[in-house]
Amino acid sequence: MGEERRAFVGLGSNLGNGPTNLLIAWQRLGEVAGITTLRLSSPYRTEPVGIETEYWFTNAVGELATTLAPEQLLDAMLAIEAAMGRDRSRTRDRAVDLDLLGYDDLVVDTPRLTVPHPELVNRLFVLAPLVELAPEWFHPVLGRRASELMVGLTHPEKVERLAWSSQGGEACIRCE
Ligand code: AMP
Repeated sequence: MGEERRAFVGLGSNLGNGPTNLLIAWQRLGEVAGITTLRLSSPYRTEPVGIETEYWFTNAVGELATTLAPEQLLDAMLAIEAAMGRDRSRTRDRAVDLDLLGYDDLVVDTPRLTVPHPELVNRLFVLAPLVELAPEWFHPVLGRRASELMVGLTHPEKVERLAWSSQGGEACIRCE
């Protein structure tokens, strides 16, 4: 086992009960050997960007500690997406989508993996929950903090912060 690292993961869902899907995916990540989940942001209801769909998303960002290398962490995330029914061939709507946003101050650029995630600087649905958790998170390529990146967005999509307590769970009668 290697040294323990901090990583930030973006979670998204626009099929089924979004908040519940995110909580299930986050719990499953915490069950993977070599991953300790630390903190999860609030859920956010967000306007779809870059995908043709009528369904709005639920997004959140989580912080974890891991002894896994970035590619191993990606494999664990993809396995959870697949187990939760993501079918990449049919539609871009998804029960859960997991993105590796950042991994310590590491920069990765391989055919399979780009870290920090290249789109995070353009997406309020990622930056808003990231700033909630870690406004001081430092983008190792751009040399800017998460809070600065968020302020720099020129055309932010619509994003509404929610609370986990008002969502999902067994008390949820009509969630959608
Ligand atoms: P998408 O379905 O659009 O989220 O794309 C997922 C694919 O993007 C994965 O199969 C990865 O190989 C690739 N990828 C590249 N960089 C990242 C990253 N930072 N986080 C998650 N997936 C990534």
